[in-house]
Amino acid sequence: MDIIHLLPDSVANQIAAGEVIQRPASCLKELVENSLDAGARRVQVLVRDAGRTLLQVIDDGIGMSEMDARLAFERHATSKIHEAQDLFSLRTMGFRGEALASICAVAQVEMTTRRAEDETGTLIEIHGSDVVRQEPCICPVGTNIKVSNLFFNVPVRRKFLKTDQTELRNLLNEFYHIVLVYPKVGFTFVHNDEILLELPAGTEKQRIEAVFGNPKKNVYTSAFVDVNTETDIVSIHGFVVKPENATRKAEQYFFVNGRYMRHPYFLKAVQTAYSGMLTNDYQPSFFIYFDIAPEAIDVNIHPTKTEIKFADEQTIFQILMASVREALGKFTLAPTIDFDTQGSIDIPLPTEGETAYQPQMAIDPNYNPFHSRGAIYQDRAPRNWESLYEGLTAPKPLNNEENVVLNEALLRPEDVESCPLWQYGGKYILLPSASGLVFVNQHRAHVAILRAQFLEQLAQTQGAMQQLLFPEVIELPPDELVLIAQLLPDLQAIGFDIEQLTPTSYSIQGIPAQLTNQSALPTLQQILMHVRDRGADTQTEWREQIAQSLAESAAIPYGKILSEPEMRDLVMRLIQLHDYRRTAEGKTIVSLLSDEEIGKRF
Ligand code: ADP
Ligand code: MG
Repeated sequence: MDIIHLLPDSVANQIAAGEVIQRPASCLKELVENSLDAGARRVQVLVRDAGRTLLQVIDDGIGMSEMDARLAFERHATSKIHEAQDLFSLRTMGFRGEALASICAVAQVEMTTRRAEDETGTLIEIHGSDVVRQEPCICPVGTNIKVSNLFFNVPVRRKFLKTDQTELRNLLNEFYHIVLVYPKVGFTFVHNDEILLELPAGTEKQRIEAVFGNPKKNVYTSAFVDVNTETDIVSIHGFVVKPENATRKAEQYFFVNGRYMRHPYFLKAVQTAYSGMLTNDYQPSFFIYFDIAPEAIDVNIHPTKTEIKFADEQTIFQILMASVREALGKFTLAPTIDFDTQGSIDIPLPTEGETAYQPQMAIDPNYNPFHSRGAIYQDRAPRNWESLYEGLTAPKPLNNEENVVLNEALLRPEDVESCPLWQYGGKYILLPSASGLVFVNQHRAHVAILRAQFLEQLAQTQGAMQQLLFPEVIELPPDELVLIAQLLPDLQAIGFDIEQLTPTSYSIQGIPAQLTNQSALPTLQQILMHVRDRGADTQTEWREQIAQSLAESAAIPYGKILSEPEMRDLVMRLIQLHDYRRTAEGKTIVSLLSDEEIGKRF
């Protein structure tokens, strides 16, 4: 008896859907990309319950014939490529002909569509791959596709979805990735009847401003300089933030041939271009667009993947770094140059056997824009040491046995109480121990102490608050509005007095008492960044990020000269932590130069 049989289409499609449509955001991406492929000038997105109940995309593109409307939902049905060769000259976002088949396998889909040349349009309704209705209808030119009850027939998938807030953030992020490459198309994004984004057609700059435009975030275009480079291998254009406008919370976007991509290696190139211009925790925001011959990148990449392979990554790394540096150099050396009319730099290609191109910089490598500007290394206001601990409960000493085992008896309270202490380089506290000389990283130590205390406060909702004399207002883009709403109870618990002012802004009237001398806005922004970028999704995770980022803001910085009592206090508090030798991220706080190692030197 034969045992092999073909799976029915509906089952095969459900399996494919598992790969292509993982969450509402991937469904939205496919629908909007289809609209753009269809030449739409305006695209409206309507979402309900973060896409669980409804995802609707309305476009004014070319529409479909009656026949195509039906075919579009078949697997491998596409109008975009005809033969394998076409893959190498793709000009459209989609080409696999899988998306609609996958979507209709796991949802209830209703679509109306009409071409300009047809008098009537077509209405088609499909539930889990079954066509339940198809008939002529009266509708405008273009396509209106409504995806309801996503994953209604795949309970596992439905259960796998995160909270509405998280899924909405995913939707918005996916949306940003697309709208930033199609500035000439107008977009609207509506969630539960509320317009979250209204993006008129315009230039790239205008689009960036319309999405992120927010002076508080420094994503306003005057904070940026243009990057513009043409070479034989690649063209690069876009905008990079002026070093003085860098923030802790950066918007970093790469696009290649009209697609968003993640590229950690190229990110390194941009960061390298900024080296020496930013303090440790500041990050450059950028929007960088690559244009490259389609055959020089891997197009056959999975639709949900955002990593893209380039044929010649090392050379592009060099070109990218050189162009960003050049853009920053122009800006720092001659701020009056009109960037828009400046030509591009010539990048010679490495010939066979030659090593990759080394960028020739026209700027003095020793030039440090901050010697003259002093904008980034702003000194923090002097701090009242004692106030750092106000309102915090004293850490509970651990069971001594446990502490000793964990920390290998490195530092015992009775020794620290009476030993001599020195500060070295404004960075380390030095003290003797039973087995050698101990180095304590002062900033990390303080972060670890404060983090533990903030976490405890969060668990007990008892943060002390300090009223601000001048309440501040924070304007937020839609994804962060969602985020802040999610964090609000915890932020209030830890001592932030904030409330929603307008649909897009919050007012801050008070901050945690330990944050004296810190400005409220950057602190709050950093919390949002931590939670967002580290993907905190549960209350436990986001509390950790809140505690971490408050601790980082409040901790004594490097360079701060400490008195002996301050150093002793810091070390005493540190060694009461569960594991005081490493930070939560695993970085070293305490290091030992053993007697043995010291002896070997002589
Ligand atoms: P792909 O985009 O990879 O071709 P899809 O399953 O996403 O595959 O779409 C199948 C086909 O349906 C497309 O090739 C296109 O011809 C048609 N189509 C889908 N969405 C639209 C739309 N919004 N407007 C016009 N045609 C569309
Ligand atoms: Mg498609």
